[in-house]
Amino acid sequence: MAEHQQDENYRDHIATVDKDGKRIWVYPKKPKGSYTNKRTWVAWILLALLFATPHIRIAGQPLLQLDFIGRKFIIFGKMFFPADSFIFVIISITAVVSIILFTVVFGRLFCGWLCPQTVFMEMVFRKVEYWIEGDYKQQIKLNKKSWDGEKIRKKSIKHIVFFGISFLIANTFLAYIIGSEALWEIQIDDPLNHVSGLLVLILFTFVFYIVFSQLREQVCTTICPYGRLQGVLLDKDSIVVAYDYERGESRAKFRKGEDRSAAEKGDCIDCFQCVDVCPTGIDIRNGTQLECINCTICMDACDTIMEGVGLEKGLIRYASENEIAANDPEAKSGFSWTTRMRGYAAVLTILFISMIALLFSRDDVQAIVLRSPGSLYTLTDNGDFQNIYTVKLLNKTNEELLIEIKDIDQIGNLLVATKNIVLKPQKEFNTALVLTRSREEISSFQTDVEFGIYSNGVLIDKVKSTFVGPIK
Ligand code: SF4
Ligand code: SF4
Repeated sequence: MAEHQQDENYRDHIATVDKDGKRIWVYPKKPKGSYTNKRTWVAWILLALLFATPHIRIAGQPLLQLDFIGRKFIIFGKMFFPADSFIFVIISITAVVSIILFTVVFGRLFCGWLCPQTVFMEMVFRKVEYWIEGDYKQQIKLNKKSWDGEKIRKKSIKHIVFFGISFLIANTFLAYIIGSEALWEIQIDDPLNHVSGLLVLILFTFVFYIVFSQLREQVCTTICPYGRLQGVLLDKDSIVVAYDYERGESRAKFRKGEDRSAAEKGDCIDCFQCVDVCPTGIDIRNGTQLECINCTICMDACDTIMEGVGLEKGLIRYASENEIAANDPEAKSGFSWTTRMRGYAAVLTILFISMIALLFSRDDVQAIVLRSPGSLYTLTDNGDFQNIYTVKLLNKTNEELLIEIKDIDQIGNLLVATKNIVLKPQKEFNTALVLTRSREEISSFQTDVEFGIYSNGVLIDKVKSTFVGPIK
């Protein structure tokens, strides 16, 4: 609960900062209602997925691992290397366009239902806080009172639990980077063997602890760049958590038995319940605001009030500005397929098709054949010309591959330094080639040559290079 604002000054500052620039701590009232119940279920599923994913394996590989340090990425058990960075670029662009399109249509639905910050803050840390310190009024009272035994006990327990959860999140976060097996090593082995890993773990723990115990809603209202983009992404057809001002105004206190329409009063009974529950401290009746994370808690609070006073639910609901302005009780969905949405959808479809095509056409083996640096050609005793090549092979699969390299043009004689190349799963192998051609087989100073990479007898890749000979 932040200070109630009834005038227009809410437009000039964010709700959680006072006129002296000091933080106004938000004490949201404990939420309850059907949307909160649904969000709780979604949150449990997401949390289960988040904590389980680094430990799930497909063909011996993690379901997801993003090893930025080792420059190795595993998605659905498939290994990706820096050479596949173009796929990541396409995936990133697709993700950004998806988020834009999703936001244009459904506002900040992602923030309220799916964002890890909201899920952890509202469904884990906030619940722990209610459990230890009580609802918002008890929390305010506790914070105002002097440091007696009860305050020290409750605050200590809360921060120890917060730190413990942060440590758990930090472990999971690290497992996504280095893998669950490497993390297990850090956890059970002599700490002196893993000093850097432990330091990272402690750093992550402190970062999460500060985020959820101190920064809290400030992450959504002032730090998150996605939140800042709302102003340009939302339009009047976007579905957002909205107050129906046509129905609610003019707001006035509830009087039992009163005919509100005869008294020219709207349905909002000015109870401030929607403000009291808001985790970002805003009054949704002021209209769509950047601070609103579409968490639906005010919808639940207002529905409870409407039920209590015998008025129709949905005074605060998912709706577009156009739907509210139209004041049409029949138009409840508020969805219209605008030109902008069609444009985003078309771009998104193209990106998805490109992404899937790239993923499926990705070579299992990356082969690079280059003429040895600084060398031109050498003349053999019998008057032929030789070029030396360095070969770099990368196995992107989880299986061992038997590799053979051949000269596709079959001009001259190819000698491979390593006869039977056994390419270990996800490993690199370096070797060299010597291509010998007679003077008659050389048509110019530089000729294109093509090498075939065969795996178990099957041609899997072709690599181009050049053969250099004497100027004719
Ligand atoms: S205004 Fe409502 S939906 Fe928006 S953040 Fe506050 S409680 Fe959540
Ligand atoms: S909870 Fe509903 S009735 Fe109460 S102030 Fe908010 S909008 Fe008005």
